[in-house]
Amino acid sequence: MRLIDSHIHVTMLPYDGLQAMARGGVVKAISCAVLVGAQHAESYFDHFKQNYNFYRSWAAQEGIELYTAVGVHPAGIPADWTRVVDKLPEFLAEPSVVALGEIGMNNDTQLERDVLKAQLEVAKAVNKPCIIHTPNQNRRAFVDLYFEMAQQVGIPAHLLVIDHAMLDIIDQINEFGAVPGITIRKQHVLPEHLAENLDRYANGMLNCDYSNIFYNDPTGVIKAANYLKEQNVDPKIIENLTYNKAAEVFGIGD
Ligand SMILES: [Zn+2]
Repeated sequence: MRLIDSHIHVTMLPYDGLQAMARGGVVKAISCAVLVGAQHAESYFDHFKQNYNFYRSWAAQEGIELYTAVGVHPAGIPADWTRVVDKLPEFLAEPSVVALGEIGMNNDTQLERDVLKAQLEVAKAVNKPCIIHTPNQNRRAFVDLYFEMAQQVGIPAHLLVIDHAMLDIIDQINEFGAVPGITIRKQHVLPEHLAENLDRYANGMLNCDYSNIFYNDPTGVIKAANYLKEQNVDPKIIENLTYNKAAEVFGIGD
């Protein structure tokens, strides 16, 4: 099995987690930006570079090709966030930087709306996909708002990855033509639940969203792929969820 994990936070990943991912068949991963409580634009500049310099080589030692998404995460919006947004096109020109992310909202403040809108405008200008976070509450309303903003900016639906999709928002995402990001962990989607609702999840891409903020399993995508295989799911569907969809959206196929 060759798998892509479409959303991790590599700077929080322990070395044995990286090894477990590699052993289980993950060959590529997208590391999204997150800086909880960030106060300075420079913190993000260093973070982006750590991801695509140090951690890209670090992951390569275990045979994982690491790609990066850049952006201001809603959990850390610095006062001078416009300086980060202004520089995003420069970072997005790096060959291994393939998307904006993790962007989105947590509390629907005006500041969060302004930061997201500005980043969607960058995505539109450089024609790159966006990995957009859905919070735990009012999820349908957030997804509606994301789609409304994307339409205002003029981003095509197939470049929007709406992450942490579950049954509450999966039909909304599919109907709009966006891409479901499916996080495999107990707070979101477990392999059994994925298998039971495969007709609704089949257009998505799997990830473990590994961070140290709460319980996460770096081998989530591997466990889901193995479980679907055991259930004799059509290999094409498994390949789509665990490799092809991410390869297509982020342009990292081979
Ligand atoms: Zn994340």
